[in-house]
Amino acid sequence: MNCKKIARTLFAAVIVSTLFSMQALADYAVYSSGGDLPAGPGTATGSPGVIYAPGVVPGSSSGQTYNVVTVGNQTTVTSEAETQAQPAAEAQAQPETAAAAVPETQPAAEAEAAPAAEAAQEQTAQGGFQYVDGDPNRVMSNGRVIDLTKPMVALTYDDGPQTNAGNRILDVFARYGQRATFFMVGDRVPSRAAEVQRMVAEGHEVANHTYSHTYLNKVDAATIQSQVAKCNDIIQQTCGVRPTIMRLPGGNKNSTVLQNVNMPIILWNIDTQDWKTRNAQSTINAVIGHVSNGDIVLMHELYDATAQATETIVPTLVEQGFQLVTVSEMAALRGVNLSPNTVYYSFK
Ligand SMILES: [Zn+2]
Repeated sequence: MNCKKIARTLFAAVIVSTLFSMQALADYAVYSSGGDLPAGPGTATGSPGVIYAPGVVPGSSSGQTYNVVTVGNQTTVTSEAETQAQPAAEAQAQPETAAAAVPETQPAAEAEAAPAAEAAQEQTAQGGFQYVDGDPNRVMSNGRVIDLTKPMVALTYDDGPQTNAGNRILDVFARYGQRATFFMVGDRVPSRAAEVQRMVAEGHEVANHTYSHTYLNKVDAATIQSQVAKCNDIIQQTCGVRPTIMRLPGGNKNSTVLQNVNMPIILWNIDTQDWKTRNAQSTINAVIGHVSNGDIVLMHELYDATAQATETIVPTLVEQGFQLVTVSEMAALRGVNLSPNTVYYSFK
């Protein structure tokens, strides 16, 4: 199985309604930047557990669109022309009689498109997520379709970037089309810029773990603020994305910390203890069979054993029907508006 091809297909599988305006298509085109759509009608092999959905994918700059339908592990991609042209042709085939009968009426396609476009805008406004085909249980998020009826888990990796284990972890997420969150230490970022840029390119969340892994409960208010701000600055300078969430080193907090962090504080409710055991099977055992919808799992990017565990955890969770999402994504999908100076352990 060509895993890279699967990953590219997932990134490309951006689903929109056929009735969206051209502006909407332009908005969504950004999602296709992560991969290549087929040049023409054809098939692509999907991956079990990777979520595709019937719909239309905005195509290349030519404006061509595709239908993507998955049955089992086989994804079929057809051009819009093949499946959509027929109704249009029929509509045009009888223009004179239709026009004569209802001269004041808009063409049927336009009449239907207008309310649908309005509905789509309303749906987009709710949490910023776009329903797929008007289905309130399926939304576009971070370049792929999320099924709100299936469980979501946020796997998080602290203390990076650390290129060896980090790239191995990223390889796994890319292979299965899933997303993770990386809480990074600011002063470790500049020397691993390529890895951090890869995180962003592949849809992961880059997040703040202070500038120098300082236990913020041991320092004064000004130091807390500078540790947080400097980490945000260096990550933004490196990859272009400013973190919107942070995690306290050691989870250590007090009232001064809570008053001065000024970002949503994300802790965890599943602790793998991977830093202590440095044992892949132990980390796997802490996750598999123990996670459920809305959990936040704590791991660390520093260890080969954690990368090795990830190579089992991700495919196993996917097989069990979990969708691996970023922390911010999970909060938004579950309707939680993250607030600064507030601690979150899970989104159950
Ligand atoms: Zn840490």
